[in-house]
Amino acid sequence: MDVTDLTLIELRDAIARRDCAAAEAARACLDRIEAVDPGLHAFLQVFRDEALARAESIDARLSAEGAGAVGPLAGVPIAIKDNLCLDYGRTTCGSRILENYESPYTATCVQRLLDAGAVIVGKTNLDEFAMGSSTEHSAFGPTRNPWDRQRAPGGSSGGSAAAVAARLTPGALGSDTGGSIRQPAAHCGVVGLKPTYGRVSRWGLVAFASSFDQVGPFGRTVADAALLCEALCGPDPLDSTSAEVEPPALLATLERPIDGLRLGIPAQARSGGVDPDVSAAFAAACSVYESLGATLVLIDLPNLEYGIAAYYIIAPAEASTNLARYDGIRYGRRARLEPGEDLETLYRRSRGEGFGAEVKRRIMLGTYALSAGYYDAYYKKAQQARRVIKGDFDRALDEEGLHAVFLPTAPGPAFKLGAKTADPLAMYLEDFFTVAANLAGLPAVSFPIGLAQADGSALPVGGQLVARAFDEMTLLRAARMHEAATDWHTQKPPA
Ligand code: GLN
Repeated sequence: MDVTDLTLIELRDAIARRDCAAAEAARACLDRIEAVDPGLHAFLQVFRDEALARAESIDARLSAEGAGAVGPLAGVPIAIKDNLCLDYGRTTCGSRILENYESPYTATCVQRLLDAGAVIVGKTNLDEFAMGSSTEHSAFGPTRNPWDRQRAPGGSSGGSAAAVAARLTPGALGSDTGGSIRQPAAHCGVVGLKPTYGRVSRWGLVAFASSFDQVGPFGRTVADAALLCEALCGPDPLDSTSAEVEPPALLATLERPIDGLRLGIPAQARSGGVDPDVSAAFAAACSVYESLGATLVLIDLPNLEYGIAAYYIIAPAEASTNLARYDGIRYGRRARLEPGEDLETLYRRSRGEGFGAEVKRRIMLGTYALSAGYYDAYYKKAQQARRVIKGDFDRALDEEGLHAVFLPTAPGPAFKLGAKTADPLAMYLEDFFTVAANLAGLPAVSFPIGLAQADGSALPVGGQLVARAFDEMTLLRAARMHEAATDWHTQKPPA
């Protein structure tokens, strides 16, 4: 049995049955990371000793107490995005400014995985402070797409998506502010879930845009993402925006198809701006749903077009305030001062040296949008656009009696490294289909629906479902229906 080929649930069950020791599972992942990751750079840090020691302690507990007592993720190796705090190792956010930052505490969501018995094997690469759609804005170099190493894995959680696609770990955590779980999931051919805003505690997730940020899982199957989501969710007194709702029991009904499934298809999903291979895969996925008895309803989301503009005002505005704390005094990198230089010079130099170009661009955009005299013209208008976009989704879901809206995850398949780094707007347009769920706070999932062809490489295509707030159950059941009828999720990138 090649442990790294198992899905998360298969591996979890093998460990619970004691067919595979947790230490053996951890070692298999660590060895594969050592062999494969130098060509991918999905990981910023690997915790070999800590992971093996923890896996051995899980094995001892499994022997003494049995799997039921240890937890639903007993012994499962997981990777976490490096903007999640962990009380050992470093938490860099892909930034020079936090290059040597050691968090004194562990994020609630990570603690929940640990409480469920998971083994954290390492921390994954990301665009600096999660700002980007390709992982190329990492200060520590890009991650490569396992399907074609000349291409980006998407971003900002590109390291986590690539790790799961390349079978370095069976599951991983990412964060999604405007698409950063779903878009890399699509480009790497895995499942990525952004839960409803408020489902998962943000305590210990380094803030980018606090009214959008949400932590969520990657897996190779819908069930794997569902299992991780169950473990992550639930109220947390340490995050006042975490909702007072109990974690959903997603796995119990996952295999039950939805009778009379009704999916809304927005006009934009079929418009000219989408790559032909993505359009073809999307049309094929629609046919799969129809063959399963679903009704597809053409819907109008008239304000979807304003999503990018609204998001790229509000998210930088929030980022500019969240990033004010990196002043070279309280956190992270501190610049050298010559005798006689003042405090302002220290701030300027520390931030000037510590932040990369995209982060500086966001701080300038956000500061401008919030400045006196421009606030009403930009920030307030963007908030109004946010409200009407949410209204579009609510209306479509309710008036048409839909279970979910179905649309592509990204307008094209994975693009070449360097293709969009010189053109920020082109990079931002990658998020055309994903930002709406963040603006509206709705749960959304991306899952594999086909393969595109480019320059001799097969490249995964993702489809995206968006459901009502706190209805992850319907969302994932609908995604599972497509998965059960197709085998796109079993396709593997070249070794
Ligand atoms: N690509 C988007 C951005 O650059 C979303 C990033 C994210 O979700 N963290 O802001």
